[in-house]
Amino acid sequence: MGKPAVKQEPTLSNWPDDGEAFRPATEVAAIAVQIMAECPEMNWLTDANIYYQFQEEMSGDTAGNCSRVPKKYRSLIDVYFVITIDWVAWHQLNTEQCRRVVYHELKHIGKNENGEWTCEKHDFEGFVGEWVMFPNVIRNDVHLGKIFVQAELELVAGEKKRANGSAK
Ligand SMILES: [Zn+2]
Repeated sequence: MGKPAVKQEPTLSNWPDDGEAFRPATEVAAIAVQIMAECPEMNWLTDANIYYQFQEEMSGDTAGNCSRVPKKYRSLIDVYFVITIDWVAWHQLNTEQCRRVVYHELKHIGKNENGEWTCEKHDFEGFVGEWVMFPNVIRNDVHLGKIFVQAELELVAGEKKRANGSAK
């Protein structure tokens, strides 16, 4: 698969000085559509009605987040999730790093046993797929890396324990 589908729009090179903190992120949406098509475990998210936006600069050491739209707004907007990406951070990332950030945020979307959409936390095994997909990106990550380095260390430690037969 070639690259052209990813950067469909000219990148906003400057954030307009109009006081708006959020803007639609069509290039993020394009990458998400591509990832959903490429990854079998992501196919089902085409039903998740996700809205993608940039935030000029997010607080904290993060490149993005994923929020579930509360049910009380469903009659107002036909969106179940909002994925917000730090615009400043985004423009410091290469294409593979951008793909990884989008993959990560998509991984937050889940469904519970009642079939209701949920926002998943980091402490579940689904995120292992991220290391499999983007091993090199993750090791060099400065925005999202801390959480994963820690989790990866715990995972490796857990596997060693299992290999030694000491885990329950
Ligand atoms: Zn996350």
